[in-house]
Amino acid sequence: MIKIGVDLGGTKTEVVALDEAGQVLLRRRAPTPYTDYGAIIETIGTLVEGVEAELSRKGTVGVGIPGSLSPATGLVRNANSQVLNGHPLDKDIAARLGRAVRLTNDANCLAMSEAADGAAAGHGTVFAVIIGTGTGAGVVVNGRILDGFNRVGGEFGHNPLPWMTAEEYPGPLCWCGLHGCQELFLSGPALAADWKGKGHRHCDGIVEAAASGDATAQSALDRYADRLARALAGVVNLIDPDVIVLGGGLSNLPLYDRVPRLIGRHVFGDVCRTPVVQAKHGDSSGVFGAARLWDGE
Ligand SMILES: [Zn+2]
Repeated sequence: MIKIGVDLGGTKTEVVALDEAGQVLLRRRAPTPYTDYGAIIETIGTLVEGVEAELSRKGTVGVGIPGSLSPATGLVRNANSQVLNGHPLDKDIAARLGRAVRLTNDANCLAMSEAADGAAAGHGTVFAVIIGTGTGAGVVVNGRILDGFNRVGGEFGHNPLPWMTAEEYPGPLCWCGLHGCQELFLSGPALAADWKGKGHRHCDGIVEAAASGDATAQSALDRYADRLARALAGVVNLIDPDVIVLGGGLSNLPLYDRVPRLIGRHVFGDVCRTPVVQAKHGDSSGVFGAARLWDGE
């Protein structure tokens, strides 16, 4: 049996087939028809069947999406591809493919992939964060996603930033309805706005700017590292993971020396040696993790 993963992104849908050892057999992608729900189901069905036809083998199917299924309704919620919200996406894909599929959010896929054979390989408890357009996270314990009773396990982006300074408090109003969510401090648009001012959304070049003496870039990076460390210290105090993995565009920032040291200031007890590492599989973590949603069965 091969393992097929589907990463349903806002602009492209990618499918990968892994063999039992996790080696890539085939990858295919297609544009996501993001305004047409029925066409999205058909795109996924066509990609999966195409991969199986090319390999002449059937597979298990896992799907990663930027959102989650509500345990109350079974329908997608919180997807930033809005057309998915309110649909029983897992059931519709299962009906199209004629088999059960597993579906979870992209941060859980990152955690699964990195725990299996990525930067967190060999660690029991893995906390993986996506810092990019938004901020999400997933927890994997001994190869299994800790999804939680309400399926919000790891929804780290919408906790408030801890140990806020007077200048930070109470934090801006978030799209989720609360104030001061960590996403509003840790996402790419948040860093861009902190560096260049309100309304700026892209922080490309901030490291180079800081290196060439731009003091506003350097202080924005300093604040970012400190805020990320505070957010992660809250995680260490709660579940004390064996490793923290960073993925997403902002995981390319130079965070890996200073953030582990900064975390220790807020961790209860006399020692904090938790490693903070960059995701090994980069942008492929989502699709690899989706392929692994049936691992351990
Ligand atoms: Zn929020």
